[in-house]
Amino acid sequence: MECGTSAAAAQLLKLLYDKRQMNMISTCAEPRKSTPPSVADDPRWARIVARDNTADGHLWYSVSTTGIYCRPSCPSRIANPRNVQLHDSLESAKATGFRPCKRCNPDGLSIDAENAALVAKACRLIEGSEEEPSLEKLADAVGRSPSYFHRMFRAATGVTPKDYAAAHRATKVRHGLSSHGTITEAIYDAGFNSSGRFYEKSTDMLGMTPSRYRAGGANEEIKFAVGQTSLGAILVASTNKGVAAILLGDDPDELVRDLQDRFPNAHLIGADHEYESLVAQIVGFVEAPRIGLNLPLDVRGTAFQERVWKALQEVPDGATVSYAEIALRIGAPRSLRAVAGACAANKLAVAIPCHRVVRNDGSLSGYAWGVDRKRALIDREASQSA
Ligand SMILES: [Zn+2]
Repeated sequence: MECGTSAAAAQLLKLLYDKRQMNMISTCAEPRKSTPPSVADDPRWARIVARDNTADGHLWYSVSTTGIYCRPSCPSRIANPRNVQLHDSLESAKATGFRPCKRCNPDGLSIDAENAALVAKACRLIEGSEEEPSLEKLADAVGRSPSYFHRMFRAATGVTPKDYAAAHRATKVRHGLSSHGTITEAIYDAGFNSSGRFYEKSTDMLGMTPSRYRAGGANEEIKFAVGQTSLGAILVASTNKGVAAILLGDDPDELVRDLQDRFPNAHLIGADHEYESLVAQIVGFVEAPRIGLNLPLDVRGTAFQERVWKALQEVPDGATVSYAEIALRIGAPRSLRAVAGACAANKLAVAIPCHRVVRNDGSLSGYAWGVDRKRALIDREASQSA
């Protein structure tokens, strides 16, 4: 089993590699046979050809013809591997005496990571302000131009800063009136209208019918891509109907194997560049869980799992709840084990906030994606709650 899935993962990587390789050949004047095997056949080179940003920080390459060195995700045209040297450390890349590339800044944080950090900073600013900060003020605070900041914020979170502020206000109102159910709902709904476009979009992002899900994704094509968040690696997978899995972990390869185990009958496809913008949006949800909370989910599981997941979605961000409490809320007070099982079976990390379930005494119990990640999510949400 383990062997089979590894082989399949390797196959996927190879497909991705071949695809890039073909693209490269079509734009490259050098005939393939003149490429010596050393670099071109190195598995690390495949990650560079794929512009695999999960290799950033682990791998660098220098190009003798241009005299520069880059990180794997560098957007520049792929170099001829004949002129490339691979480096497993930044020191080794620097030792060539070449210059760091201006486009990918191989000495620093990746552009994505840098932007994610700036976006997170802007989110905290919005949350901490009484009045909604202007676009100019936010852009100024992170040292970017207003138009660049606006684009960057939207790429990372899927919403505009204005929409984000509106959603934040709505959540605040909801917390403030939590004892008055119907009023809360009315205001909550009103708050959402201001970011209607976002919710329209996200409705399309989720989905796969229960029967298909139960069949392990039989005859289903599932696209996937991996990325990085402040909590580690993330894998996002979608059917043609929407997002079917959000998985978190340390090792991208392991996440791919996990996906295969969860959808053993599906046809998994390494996703294209277009899909990466969706991944960037989900990364934004993970960085700002409040946005993820508001996603309309098409929940797919057994009837019992669906009840548990629905109850989880009703736990407000910034709050935690015990397994016993969830069991009570779904009217099955003796089903502690089954509740824990349903939490573990959740495959939409953060979007279905199973990280908010803790032991009776408030201590952290297990988390499918690691207890440290659970703690980080809980702490982040607590600090964001006014
Ligand atoms: Zn570069």
